Amino acid sequence: MAGNLPVLKPGSTLGILGGGQLGRMLIIAAARLGLRSHVYSPEPDSCAFDVASEKTCAPYDDDDALTRFAKSVDLITYEFENVPAETADFLVTNRSVVLPDPAILATTQDRLAEKNFLIDFGIGTAPFAEIGSEVDVSVAVVQIEPPAVLKTRRLGYDGKGQVVVREEGDAAAAWKELGEVPAILEGFIEFEREISVIAARGRDGSFAAYDPIENIYREHILHRSLVPAALSPAVAKEAVGIAKKIADELSYVGVLTVEMFVVEKDGRFQLLVNEIAPRVHNSGHWTIDGASVSQFEQHIRAIAGWPLAKPRRLGKIEMTNLIGDEIEGWKKFLAEPGAVLHIYGKREARPGRKMGHVTRIKPEK
Ligand code: AMP
Repeated sequence: MAGNLPVLKPGSTLGILGGGQLGRMLIIAAARLGLRSHVYSPEPDSCAFDVASEKTCAPYDDDDALTRFAKSVDLITYEFENVPAETADFLVTNRSVVLPDPAILATTQDRLAEKNFLIDFGIGTAPFAEIGSEVDVSVAVVQIEPPAVLKTRRLGYDGKGQVVVREEGDAAAAWKELGEVPAILEGFIEFEREISVIAARGRDGSFAAYDPIENIYREHILHRSLVPAALSPAVAKEAVGIAKKIADELSYVGVLTVEMFVVEKDGRFQLLVNEIAPRVHNSGHWTIDGASVSQFEQHIRAIAGWPLAKPRRLGKIEMTNLIGDEIEGWKKFLAEPGAVLHIYGKREARPGRKMGHVTRIKPEK
């Protein structure tokens, strides 16, 4: 379907649902390619508003505001995966072009649907069970064997909506702590490392991926990304192959991110997919300074119907998030030779809030 859409022309206006730093970085990339941007977000202090050509601050169920927004743009995309299904349906029903196709969100917004999609296509995941009651948790924890992680099916991010079940007797307390909502129970994976693959699929089915990224989390929030991940060429190729399979099966258009666990068993490495993010991703921020074309430009190329780039990595990369008051060190990072500082312009540095990042690029030996 996307193949028949008219190609977007420079000078057009891109509509973005969501007003966070991912939107802000998309807009900056769009501007370099001669595109204007209109951000739609219900949050008055959205940091993407500061750089947008136009902004709408309204709830996602405000049909009048959505109609005005849709009329003012040539193509709509989103910078977060929890776009309400009703909002996406309203836009699509009113003939807006929304890419990636919001139908994909039914799979990626629900951890159970996502896991079932993956196993249907022979892609490895942690062992899991569907949970709808306290009894389900008690039964599943025996099958899966603790430790296990109870996760809400919907609206979880950065470790929110997750409770660890350390032993069988924890089932009832975990179910309560999670809020007694539809969930999945997942086996706890003793992984070697966590990686992500950021890839783009064009309207014509073309595909391009960055090298797999190694991700280090602190209190469930991404702290550092290292590129390339320490993987053998065969495992790196397999990781990219998994991302391609997912993108092809979803007929995806745009940039998508696949988070995976690397597990070692009897000297062999296995890849298990943890999550699919239908969007640009924090672990790809290094591509702004450390690749010939960034994930943000690549996303715009893909949805606009333009040729995908074959991005070249410019060295050995380390990207560090600046969380909460770590942003106070901005002068130190500016003075550091070779460090590139990004500040998102958020008014308040709350604990756990992503305020900026630093990218360090070293020559490859
Ligand atoms: P998620 O919200 O599913 O992306 O999980 C956030 C982080 O929690 C992951 O990046 C892992 O570090 C950790 N985690 C999530 N699920 C598991 C699991 N099944 N086994 C081990 N660690 C996990």
